[in-house]
Amino acid sequence: AERRARMAAESLLQQKQRELSSANRKLGEHAKLLSEEIIEKRQEVRIVRSQAEKLKGQNTKVREDLDRATKQAVVAERRLWDAIETIQDGFAVFNGKDQLVIANRAYLAMFDGLDGVRPGVTFPDLLDLMVDEGLVDIGHQDPVKWKDFMVGRWDHDPIEPLTLKLWNDSYVKFLDRRAHDGDMVSLALNITDTIRHERELAEARDRAEAAARAKTAFLANMSHEIRTPMNGVVGMSELLIESSLDEEQQLYAETIRNSAEALLVIINDVLDYSKIEAEKLVLHPEAFDLERAINEVLVLLQPTATDKGLELLLDFDLFLPTRFVADPGRMRQVLTNLIGNAVKFTTEGHVLVRVTGYPEEGNNSNYTLHISVEDTGIGIAEDKIEAIFGEFNQVEDERNRKYEGTGLGLAITQQLVELMGGEIWVDSELGEGSCFGFQVSVEAEDVPAPDSMKIPEGLRSAMVVDDLPINRTILEKQLTAMGLTVTTHSNADAALADNPEHVNMVLVDHSSMDLDGLTFTQKLRARGCNTPVILMTANPSFVSQAEGANNLFAIMQKPLLRRDLYERLRELGLWLASAPAPAPQPITTQEPELQRMRLLAAEDNKTNQLVFRKMVKSLDLDLEFANNGREAVDAFKSFRPHLVFMDISMPEMDGKEATRTIRTFEAGLGMERTPICALTAHAMDGDDQGILAAGLDFYLTKPLKKAAILDRIRQHVPEGVIIEPEDSAAAVA
Ligand code: ADP
Repeated sequence: AERRARMAAESLLQQKQRELSSANRKLGEHAKLLSEEIIEKRQEVRIVRSQAEKLKGQNTKVREDLDRATKQAVVAERRLWDAIETIQDGFAVFNGKDQLVIANRAYLAMFDGLDGVRPGVTFPDLLDLMVDEGLVDIGHQDPVKWKDFMVGRWDHDPIEPLTLKLWNDSYVKFLDRRAHDGDMVSLALNITDTIRHERELAEARDRAEAAARAKTAFLANMSHEIRTPMNGVVGMSELLIESSLDEEQQLYAETIRNSAEALLVIINDVLDYSKIEAEKLVLHPEAFDLERAINEVLVLLQPTATDKGLELLLDFDLFLPTRFVADPGRMRQVLTNLIGNAVKFTTEGHVLVRVTGYPEEGNNSNYTLHISVEDTGIGIAEDKIEAIFGEFNQVEDERNRKYEGTGLGLAITQQLVELMGGEIWVDSELGEGSCFGFQVSVEAEDVPAPDSMKIPEGLRSAMVVDDLPINRTILEKQLTAMGLTVTTHSNADAALADNPEHVNMVLVDHSSMDLDGLTFTQKLRARGCNTPVILMTANPSFVSQAEGANNLFAIMQKPLLRRDLYERLRELGLWLASAPAPAPQPITTQEPELQRMRLLAAEDNKTNQLVFRKMVKSLDLDLEFANNGREAVDAFKSFRPHLVFMDISMPEMDGKEATRTIRTFEAGLGMERTPICALTAHAMDGDDQGILAAGLDFYLTKPLKKAAILDRIRQHVPEGVIIEPEDSAAAVA
């Protein structure tokens, strides 16, 4: 039992030892784990500590930055405030509860140093102060209502600017704006000077307008007053001209009438202009023949155009009605101004009036008309174009100086067109020409039936002979529209070569550089061709008396009226349809006998022309005047004078150059040298050499002496011609 007990004790002991060693082992393992953990923690602590060190450094920098920024902000605020204090206008900020936060001195000055005005005071309190202390002039407004209005004003966004008058007669304009954080920023601009200025300007303007009205009234009165006696002058000189006067008196009377008429034109312009200015001009619309009106204006201007060698052309759209409702007088005035200017400012080429138009949508009897006046004149520089519609505006340059005018024409024209509800414009190129156009909307009185312009059966084909391409185009267009087959030629030779026998009629231009309609017709008849010829001319009465006029079927005034042309062609068509081919008409080919001496005098001054005419009055001569050298050359070619008197200094082309040109022309044709006598004011030594070198044969100095002139003429009378009426010849002898 003892052994067993011992053995049991031993095994127990062993077991306990095992348990102990196992516990030991676990303990060891645990200790190891712990120590590892400690190492790890220590490392973490080290990292954290180093991070903390770093942060500490950063923190210091941030604090330094903050310090610097704060300092800068203080400086910036001080600067801003200095600036705000410096400006002359008031500046204030209120917080969200409308309490004054800050205000500059200018703002506070409005309150004239009142104690209550300091930060913290509310806006309504400030308003109370302003009213109570009489700081603001609210006129007759109720103070309570005014304050309510002022307070309510701040609730708007944006807030309308507001101007107040203050106690010291100054004016302040308030510009207020609510900032994002609810603050109210208020700017008070002192606009006293501006207001005073505006008031002065308004007063000045009123004074100027009153003066302008007085001026217009004065002009209108004056013009009217002048017009009455001027009408007397025109009327009486008219009567005088009709009474029995000798040639010289006739000339004087005509000069009086022409001058008076020219003056009347100017006065009428001024009167019209004043009326338009005073808005007193009223239009009187009525139906009238527009085409005829344009034609009449053209016919009136025809003599001037012919003198200058200009072609006047009218292209009135064939399918356009003729009668329209508008103020005929004013329409004529617009046309006269535009066409008159075109003729005035053109020295060679043509003036073309073009009328086109179309019915307006929705109302077929209403037409939009486009009327343009195109010339080949001096043109207008681009930078001058704007100004020409202004009153008293004339293009000031070398080319323009020689033209007379008031500078009112276009101003009136523009106003009239605008009064008609239209629009006017211009297109121009310096040295090339101008095109003035206007557009108006007018009611048409007669709308033509589409085929009312058809020509009777007998007439199917026509030949147009005209040297001017535009005229050929216009006629071709019109004749084609009337149902004819048209051929066109620019000169007689080409037309003669193109079998004029095979057309039903020939429409030929009377006279131009390369074409003489009468000679052409004579040539036709000479070769037995009796195609009817209609001759177009600017001067029908002259042509009708000319040799060979009986060869013509008709003579028509240029520019042709559509209706006249149509009527003539209709007659011709009827006649061709009914008549047998007429026998060729006899033609006379002999040259007109040389009966009178032809004398050309080139002289730009009208008075000198008059004097010259007077001096040679006693002689039986054909005397023609040219107003400048270029006209002299043209006249020389067409008039073929026996003797030329040539002024030396003339506009456009002087006498020497004109003579040189004439000499070249003579040489080209193998003509005999025509005697040319210079008229010169320069009686200086050596001058004569230049004159003779230019091809002139003699010279006379001004002032002209009658005896010297007559002597010179008598020396060059062509053979067989008598220039002295019987008795005076005897007297001379
Ligand atoms: P004016 O009485 O001088 O003709 P307008 O008012 O009719 O006055 O014209 C003003 C100016 O416009 C003219 O003086 C001229 O310089 C310019 N002008 C008008 N029409 C023409 C034209 N067809 N060609 C060139 N210049 C023109």
